[in-house]
Amino acid sequence: MIKVLEKNIADKISAGEVVERPLSVVKELVENSIDASATSITVEIKNGGKSFIRVTDNGCGILGEEVEIAFLRHATSKIREISDLSAIDSLGFRGEALASISAVTRTTLITKTEKEKTGKKIVINGGEIIENSVTGCPDGTTIIVTDLFYNTPARRKFLKNDGAESGLIIDFLSEIALAYSKLKIQLINNGKIIFSTRGDGNQKNTLTSVYNRKEYRDLIEVNYNTDEYKITGCISKPSLSRTSRREQVFFVNGRVIKSKILDKGVNEGYKERLFEGRYPIVFLFIKVDPAEVDVNIHPNKREIRFNNEKSIIENVRNAIVETLSSKKSLVEFSDYYNPKTIYEKETPLFLHEEKSTDNIEQVDIKNILKSKRCESESKISINEEEKKTDNNIEEECKPELKLERPNHIPFNFEELQILGSIFDTYITCVDSNSFYLIDQHAAQERIFYEKLVSEYLSDTKPGQVILTPITVDVPISLGENSYNWLDSLRDMGYVIDNFGPDNSYIIREIPFFMEISEAENFVKYYIEQLDENINLRNSVVIDKLIMRSCKSAIKAHDKLSHQEKVALLNELSHCKNPFSCPHGRPTFLRFSIYDIEKMFKRV
Ligand code: ADP
Ligand code: MG
Repeated sequence: MIKVLEKNIADKISAGEVVERPLSVVKELVENSIDASATSITVEIKNGGKSFIRVTDNGCGILGEEVEIAFLRHATSKIREISDLSAIDSLGFRGEALASISAVTRTTLITKTEKEKTGKKIVINGGEIIENSVTGCPDGTTIIVTDLFYNTPARRKFLKNDGAESGLIIDFLSEIALAYSKLKIQLINNGKIIFSTRGDGNQKNTLTSVYNRKEYRDLIEVNYNTDEYKITGCISKPSLSRTSRREQVFFVNGRVIKSKILDKGVNEGYKERLFEGRYPIVFLFIKVDPAEVDVNIHPNKREIRFNNEKSIIENVRNAIVETLSSKKSLVEFSDYYNPKTIYEKETPLFLHEEKSTDNIEQVDIKNILKSKRCESESKISINEEEKKTDNNIEEECKPELKLERPNHIPFNFEELQILGSIFDTYITCVDSNSFYLIDQHAAQERIFYEKLVSEYLSDTKPGQVILTPITVDVPISLGENSYNWLDSLRDMGYVIDNFGPDNSYIIREIPFFMEISEAENFVKYYIEQLDENINLRNSVVIDKLIMRSCKSAIKAHDKLSHQEKVALLNELSHCKNPFSCPHGRPTFLRFSIYDIEKMFKRV
């Protein structure tokens, strides 16, 4: 027998589609507040939102005569005609949220518009109107939702523990606060303020408030504009990094997005500025023509497809490189002055599900092991790196390494005045408002590395003939691939040939800028890292090989004359990335006048 369901049964069923868990209630209510042009929203929850949710806003309110209508299914003020659908700019428009929420909870709504003298209070339990009365209240709307699923106990069973449910809500509201930095947002959990933003439109202030981390004050602001992209946000200096990507959050056109492509842009931007296994803190807000992205590839809309992946990688990279080349992003004494700020315990962000289970411990151990392994076993990590490289982005045939300099480096080397050096290791310099220590050896490594890569990349290979040729023995058969280790050394400017016994080779010419001992050591270390499985066509692999071999090969010139210091700084200034050695250690340490005055307690 077919029967039409009673209204309250039908409502409960459709409520299930909208209201899955406390987070869904908060999400719908907060979106309504934003749609109502609120500038201030307070959310209070108890027991993960299961027993109590209150959302208060200072938005437009609901007219007294329309309060009951708002709770009817398909009641909305946001669309009238089919044609409105295509031009929607509000977050919700299906007119189902209030009806659904009130069907499975006890709901109280108190609201007043600016033009009315009195407000309205309406109480609905499980879809039944219990009270509808006139009340005094401020402009705006407060909705209190208690006892979620009290009348559908089966649904309650699917909820997670309080911590996990509140975690989801905290994550959601954090994202909203960051995406809408002009909104004042406060979140209270079990009587405790989780965060409270100023709503001043400043992304850095908002970040600092949401995560309540002192060290976020030291993040550097990104401001990058091209015809196609506007990238803003905050990133950490290389001196502040983490063991995971947890503190890397991307908003694309206002929505939080997870994307390997964006990760890749960040990696390239920080390339050589961080040690392996370390990740910077990155909050980026990317605005791009909506026609250039497809957000519908994932039901949660957390993933996105970019039409032009290369271009987004390049622009994220440029935005970061440009930001990191400014004077304010040089590693400063104060970054290390208070070691606590650097080693402060890392707590997860946007991953509260993990936080409330035991996973967190495992994840960290995994990461630590991973970075340890990278440090100690060079071969393995090269092969891992090879695997990691994204296939569709990887360059084929001859590895295409790149040495790109950002469009402009805001740091002015010409202003630097060399004072001398200390411990025969650190060059001392000043400019108008800072004192600098420059690590000679790190600087030499950087210069050596860039010269080698640019020789490798250039068509002409200026070499120098050596009087006594160097001979090297290659311990194992390194394979006879079409592009093998011999070719790669020749591409760096070596003239090297097989000689006599099978595994002996003779070097007659070396790259123009090397000393003989450096050239010999370089080849030795280079060969030591090879095995028959290594893919020398992979740019990441060859880059790593060069980087590592440089480090071991370079001869430290301890005592430098003034001329040599001038020359070193000059060469450094021509480097694409002068501020760190290829392994991520800083070349520069900056002490601002302010830092120094602070130490002397003048300020
Ligand atoms: P929708 O948001 O899809 O229109 P809802 O059920 O969420 O449907 O809300 C129904 C209507 O109630 C909205 O269209 C809006 O007119 C009104 N409303 C809901 N919440 C608020 C609020 N916080 N401030 C002002 N009006 C609101
Ligand atoms: Mg809505």
